[in-house]
Amino acid sequence: MAPPAPQSKPHAAPDPSLAALIAAARAVRANAYAPYSNFQVGAALRGAAGQVFVGANVENAAYPQGQCAEASAIGQMIAAGERRIAALVVIAGERAAPPCGGCRQRLSEFAGPELPIHLCASDGRELLRVTLGELMPLAFGPDTLTPKP
Ligand SMILES: [Zn+2]
Repeated sequence: MAPPAPQSKPHAAPDPSLAALIAAARAVRANAYAPYSNFQVGAALRGAAGQVFVGANVENAAYPQGQCAEASAIGQMIAAGERRIAALVVIAGERAAPPCGGCRQRLSEFAGPELPIHLCASDGRELLRVTLGELMPLAFGPDTLTPKP
């Protein structure tokens, strides 16, 4: 089955900030620690202030202790003092690899449903573009606990 076509407009001008984010995700994917699954994942997110944060998956011999690339990138973002995610790129090989359920919840903590998520192939081609809201409608998030007035 062919991967779904990207939803971006074919005539849209290239987005240099997206290209940088894709390059960052490709680069960090090479550092993934995935000796058990050999499923290497790289994630790069851009914070609201424009800084790029990256993460790779980190497996462990005690399997449940492994950490997703998205979670690693969020940790780097939080350590730097950023609290909002403006865009996310995930690269895991030749197939679009959407964030797992746990990471969708993690992303919901720091982004709204409009968050663009670019799922790319290892060569950087965008395979699919979705929003967090499409991946996780009716998310339980900070607003659930403390509704905005
Ligand atoms: Zn995950």
